[in-house]
Amino acid sequence: MPVETDDCDVLGHQWDIINMARTRRAVSTHQVHLRCMRCLGLRHDSFDINGKLIARSYDYSDSTHETGRWKRGEKPSMAEMRIAMVRKHSCKKPAAAKQRRLKAV
Ligand SMILES: [Zn+2]
Repeated sequence: MPVETDDCDVLGHQWDIINMARTRRAVSTHQVHLRCMRCLGLRHDSFDINGKLIARSYDYSDSTHETGRWKRGEKPSMAEMRIAMVRKHSCKKPAAAKQRRLKAV
């Protein structure tokens, strides 16, 4: 069975800040909301005024990165996921890759 992987599994998420806010309650915090530019997963960080992380949560609209995606002992190794990523991208544009090779000759 081929390894199903996402680029973020291998490369890590590509976070970009989408919103920030500062709460002014008993304990003032900064709320930073980020979105991964690849998988569109969301991360929500809260830290105090000194930058100490208080809370972090993730929200993925799909099941790609959910905990428990693989059954115990079935998670592919990082090497297997790297190879799966390379194969996935190698197969995406065979015509374009062929064209590049032809132009290079
Ligand atoms: Zn991601």
